[in-house]
Parts: sequence; C-alpha cells; structure tokens
Amino acid sequence: MSGTKRPGSAKHPGSESTPGMDPFADTLQRLREAFVSGRTRPAKFRAAQLKGLSLFLQENKQLLQEALAQDLYKTAFHSEVSELILCQNQVDFALRNLHTWMKDEPGAKNLMTQLDSVFIRKEPFGLVLILSPWNYPLNLSLGPLVGALAAGNCVVLKPSEISKSTMKVLAKVLPRYLDQSCFAVVLGGPEETGRLLEHKFDYIFFTGSPRVGKIVMAAAAKHLTPVTLELGGKNPCYVDDNCDPQTVANRVAFFRCFNTGQTCVAPDYVLCSPEMQAQLVPALQSAITRFYGNDPQRSPDLGRIISQKHFQRLRGLLSCGRVVIGGQSDESDLYIAPTVLVDVKETEPVMQEEIFGPILPIVNVRSLDQAIDFINRREKPLALYAFSNSSQAVKQMLDRTSSGNFAGNQGFTFLSLTSLPFGGVGQSGMGRYHGKFSFDTFSHHRACLLSHPGLEMLNNIRYPPYSDFEQKLITWALGSHSCTLL
Ligand code: NAD
Repeated sequence: MSGTKRPGSAKHPGSESTPGMDPFADTLQRLREAFVSGRTRPAKFRAAQLKGLSLFLQENKQLLQEALAQDLYKTAFHSEVSELILCQNQVDFALRNLHTWMKDEPGAKNLMTQLDSVFIRKEPFGLVLILSPWNYPLNLSLGPLVGALAAGNCVVLKPSEISKSTMKVLAKVLPRYLDQSCFAVVLGGPEETGRLLEHKFDYIFFTGSPRVGKIVMAAAAKHLTPVTLELGGKNPCYVDDNCDPQTVANRVAFFRCFNTGQTCVAPDYVLCSPEMQAQLVPALQSAITRFYGNDPQRSPDLGRIISQKHFQRLRGLLSCGRVVIGGQSDESDLYIAPTVLVDVKETEPVMQEEIFGPILPIVNVRSLDQAIDFINRREKPLALYAFSNSSQAVKQMLDRTSSGNFAGNQGFTFLSLTSLPFGGVGQSGMGRYHGKFSFDTFSHHRACLLSHPGLEMLNNIRYPPYSDFEQKLITWALGSHSCTLL
C-alpha cells in the first residue's frame, strides 16, 4: 500500500554497476510504466506519498541526525533547524494545499470564446530526476521531492555520493515509505550520473555547482528535457558606512559560518569602505568569539569541512590577502577556523571562486555606487545582502542590481518561508521552488479549451469567405478590449 512501510530493502541501481551493463534501465522502465498507468495522478495517491515522507522524517529523526553528524559534524539541534524542520514544513504545507493547487485554474476569455470552458490544467511531467548535493543532503533531496510527488510525478532521486551516511539512509530507508513502483533512489558519482543522464527524463531538477549544472543541461538538451538548475556562486554582502558595526558583524559572521560556511546562499564576501572595515574587523572578532569561544575548534556549534579535497582547496584560499581573524587549520580534523581576510585582490582565487567555507574576504569600495558597479560587473549571484540604517541605501541596492534572492539587514532567513520562491538567475541558476512554486515547477501548465460539440452556426463566422462586415466583427471580437472577460 502506498504511503506505508514496506518490508525488505530496496535495490539501488548504480551502486554496483557492471561494465557494459546499463544499471538504470530496468528501474527507469518500471517507473515509466507506473506513470503511464496513471496511478500517480489522483490526489489520494499524491497525499499518501507526502504522508509517507512525513512519517519517514518523524520515525527516522535520530537516524538522520546521526547521519548528518557523521557527514557534516552537525549537532542534533543544527540538523533539526537546518534540515529536518525545513523538510517537514514543506511536506505539511504541500499536504494542506494539495487540493487547491491541483484545481484547474480558469482562464480569461475573449468574445470569440465566450461559450467555451477555458482553464489551465496542472499535470505531472512524468518521470523526474532529482540530483542533489552534499551540503544540506537531506533538505536538498526531500525539498524538491515534495514538489515532484505533490505534482504527481514518478521520481528518481540521486543523492550526493559525498555525504555518504545521509545517502545510505535515503537509499535504504526512504523507499520503504513511498510507493516503490513510482519512486527509486539510485546511487553514484560523476561517472554513474553521466550514464544516468544519457536516459530520457521528462524533467530534471539539479542542485549543485555551475560547472556540473552545465553538464546536466547539455545532457538534458539532447532529449529536450526541461531543467531547473539550483546553482551557486559568490554572494556579495554590502555594508554601508551608516550602520551599527556590531549588529552587522553578528549577522554576517553567523550566516557566513552556518553549516561551516558550506551554504550556497552564504554571504561570500563583504564590500565596504576602509573606514567601515576598521570597525567591522574587531566587531567580527567579537561575534566569532561570542558564538564559538576562544578556540572555535572545540565549539560544538562549528562543523567540519566535508572532505579532504574541499579542505585542501579552502586551506589554499587562506593564503590570499592578509589574515586578520582566524587562519588556523587542522587537516586531521578537517577543521578551518572562522577567518577574515583583508587586502585581497580581485584576481586572487578567493575572489574568483565560490568559497564554500568559513572564510570571509573584505573588499574595499568607496561608495554605494562603486559597490553596485562591482556587483553588476560580475555574474548574477544567488543571493545579495545589503546592510544599512538607511532604507534608501538598501532600496538602491535592490533596485539597481539583480540576484536570485535579496535580503536587507538580514542573512538567508528568506529560505525558511514557503511563501517565497527560491532560485537563481543567470549563472546562479534557473527556475524556482519551495511552497507552491515547487508544485508549479514540477507541473506542466496545460492550456485547455473545451468547446460545445454543436452550435455550429456560431462557428460559421470563422470560416471563409469573409464579407467586410464579418472581417470587422472578427477583428473586433478578438481585440484586446474583450480579452479580460471571464
Ligand atoms: P556538485 O555540482 O559537485 O554535485 C551535485 C550533484 O551532481 C551530485 O549529486 C553529484 O554526484 C553530481 N555530479 C558531480 N559531478 C558530476 C558530473 N561530472 N556529471 C554528472 N553529475 C555529477 O555540487 P556539490 O559539490 O555537491 O555542492 C556544492 C555546490 O552546490 C556549490 O556550488 C553550491 O553553491 C551549490 N549548491 C546550490 C544550492 C542551491 O539551492 N542553489 C544549494 C546547495 C548547494
């Protein structure tokens, strides 16, 4: 029965691929057949899957917290607030609104279509692939999954191979809570994912780096498969001279170091005047000591870098500019101290690549205009932050730049809201999700017009030949003055 636990463990294609064999073909065939059978379409089935997801989260809370602790050194509290609650909220919101979202939306009519029924049908795409990253391995797998299931799709989830413990729970336990004829977890790294992407999907939802996003989009293009790309990049954080440095430092340090800096929307670098920098540096030091103590390595609230590879990359960045706070690292513990760099050059790696760690460079600008110019000369970021006591300064930053998300005098709290769309623009991605935006993303919006089978005399006016009067009448009836009639 859908939505309830099933005995036995699921097979995980990709985990033991044999050369020459296609490890995914059977699974994809099974899911496709299930979709064609129509069983995922009824609201009852969709709700059962969402309830299954909810039960998975509740019954396996401890297991998930342990896995997240192993992967990312997250405390139980941190896992709860940065992963579990966010997933639960998305599931609950979808369950509450499913029937409303599924309803056909009436469309406006013109005079020529007055007797027709005109509406938008939200229908599932079919077989959906979700590829997720390692930094919030639960939230970024289940978040999109909520939308895909609510919209009535069959789903293949490929979690990141880097967050191994969470991947194992998702692969072994999650399928037991969902209908396995319609849902599968497949495993693999770049090579296996490359093979998976050779198959035709009806929609691909990818969260990860812009580099891999391009690979995914190129693979999708071969089948003309639509994609959502949730990518990363460098998120600017403008700090105006007119602000309280300690308040700003608290917020910037907290959101920079949240999840050890391994957050796609984290403030990546600060833009401020040299005068503000002189006040901000001691304030950042004070905030870091307040949050993580004199020896942040011993703080339970600071995690670790996910892997040796990322640790090496981040340690390399510590040699950019001049370290004014932190700078310590411990390879045996994958520890990088919360670090602030000044005197960095735009050409140095720390200003060229997404940092994705607890390192914050400060770049000097002379004015708000110069900060806006600096931002606009670069790729559009996923998030942009502006701190100022002047609402005019914040408004100017909002009005004269572009980014996936924007926050004035705050960090990435917008993420927790089901009412706001989440997604990038330009280099930081395309498409959006969360709340109803997730349902819409995973639904094809089908334009429908149902006409009367009779009443042919009303249609006669459309057919040639046309008298002068008929031409005038048709032109008038199709004109914009009548387009808003319901
Ligand atoms: P990644 O791009 O390396 O991997 C993401 C997924 O793609 C994983 O499932 C991985 O197995 C797969 N993959 C990796 N290489 C591949 C290849 N060559 N071919 C096919 N598939 C491949 O990203 P990551 O390191 O897991 O995550 C970090 C990145 O993700 C950062 O850039 C971060 O900003 C971004 N991110 C974005 C968001 C967002 O919501 N916009 C959220 C979290 C992370």
